[in-house]
Amino acid sequence: MTKPVCAYCKLPNALTREHLWPASLHSRLSAANKQTSNSFWLARLQREIPSEPKIRDVCAHCNNVVLSELDAYICQLFDSTLVHIPNRHERVTFEHDYHLLKRWLLKLCFNSARVHNSRDLYALDVMLPYIMGESSTLGKSVQLFLQLSYPEEVPEEELSANAPADCPVFFKPTMNRVGHIFFRVHGVGEKLLRAVHLRSFTFYLAFFKPSESCVVLNDFADHFSHYTGALLLRPSNPIVETQCNGAGAWTLFKGSRSNQLIFDDDI
Ligand SMILES: [Zn+2]
Repeated sequence: MTKPVCAYCKLPNALTREHLWPASLHSRLSAANKQTSNSFWLARLQREIPSEPKIRDVCAHCNNVVLSELDAYICQLFDSTLVHIPNRHERVTFEHDYHLLKRWLLKLCFNSARVHNSRDLYALDVMLPYIMGESSTLGKSVQLFLQLSYPEEVPEEELSANAPADCPVFFKPTMNRVGHIFFRVHGVGEKLLRAVHLRSFTFYLAFFKPSESCVVLNDFADHFSHYTGALLLRPSNPIVETQCNGAGAWTLFKGSRSNQLIFDDDI
């Protein structure tokens, strides 16, 4: 019997079984949220599922050598930065290794795309040499944005009947989720992006053709930043200052369920 092929190195090999969210990161997220049960949203199924999706098509070498280095980095970034939930308007210094962060985000999206058989699977598969650290130039066709969300009061009419009366309920950005965002600006255009939420920190990945001109890339970055408050991260700038005023956590939570970000240019 022929051995199955690893999704990363494309070689026939014995394959491992891994969680979509690395166990080392997941335990940190659980501890930070003091969770007792897990709940992962599958847009395809339109319902909550009780357990985390698993990946079964990665060989031990890819998993333990290259990809675990990326997981180690995101855990380090979580401990230093992502664990904190800033208040609205708080100034935040975001110090990061641009390529390790972007490669990890793309890896997570690629894994999620295989679990869900997503329409952008091909675009993520093309990024494999970058994810594996074999090509840095390929990464230039993907823009990475950071948006910070803040605790937000849930409107009274959106609370369930058994919510405490006369007591504002604040929704904190504690979720972790990987999904899509359809960014549409009337009069400008539309684009499907990947969104990775890690508590207050939302990372957006915008994909372009490798041959796309700087004018198109810059124009998109200007519009996306203008409408979302997201900051374009650049490899040359590992320490950025930003403000926690991108989106209210409740608004973002509701938006992530509908996968829509629509902006009207007339407003
Ligand atoms: Zn492999």
